[in-house]
Amino acid sequence: MHHDSPCHRPDAVAHINVIAHRLDQVYGSRRWRPHLRPLDELVMTVLSQHTSDVNTERAFQSLRASFPTWEAVRVAPTSAVADAVRTGGLADRKAPRIQAILNDILAERGVLDLDHLVDLPLAAARDWLLQLNGVGPKTAACVLLFSLGRPALPVDTHVHRVAKRLGLIGSAVGAEAAHALLEADLGADRDRVYAFHVNMIAHGRAVCTARRPFCERCPLKDCCAFYAHVATPSPTSPPLPPDGS
Ligand code: SF4
Repeated sequence: MHHDSPCHRPDAVAHINVIAHRLDQVYGSRRWRPHLRPLDELVMTVLSQHTSDVNTERAFQSLRASFPTWEAVRVAPTSAVADAVRTGGLADRKAPRIQAILNDILAERGVLDLDHLVDLPLAAARDWLLQLNGVGPKTAACVLLFSLGRPALPVDTHVHRVAKRLGLIGSAVGAEAAHALLEADLGADRDRVYAFHVNMIAHGRAVCTARRPFCERCPLKDCCAFYAHVATPSPTSPPLPPDGS
């Protein structure tokens, strides 16, 4: 780390504050807006795995057009659900997952909606989602943030990779564990958490890409651990690999 860097961090909160502010300047500050209802958001999140936003939306609309209710999706032959979401990819894995989640919700709640989460504190709402079959920290955070407007941070592959390279989390921290660490540092402002999520993904797609980070044109390089290491490698330690792991 450059000790004379304007972004040299005395602690993780100060570091993430600088990064979040810089990302806002480069990619725009954003405000959370109401999105889908919680159950719709949960299904949409399952459909979004390993596919583009466009194909996710297409698969979701196709599913809604093919079945009048979530109950109809729950009791349909799994092959029919898979056919309805084919455009989203991995349909034969996503269809049974969606049905398992719907079965779990019905067993727990007696109705197929998640509107009760609106009244729960963040930790309780998260715990409730995580008990569902096949719902992990990222999926739960998507529902909490996008639908419920809670300051929960979904850590997808871009957020995880860029956070590691920047030094916001250690290089050995997995994506699941990163949720709690980054959320604690970001604080409880939902607009800020939302902007950080969206802007880290934008940065991961445009500049700090998986294939290689384009550090020379990166607006964050003065506060990036990976860049500091590459720019002034220690004679005793080997260089970090490009994915920061
Ligand atoms: S300086 Fe390089 S590694 Fe760091 S965030 Fe920018 S592109 Fe990624």
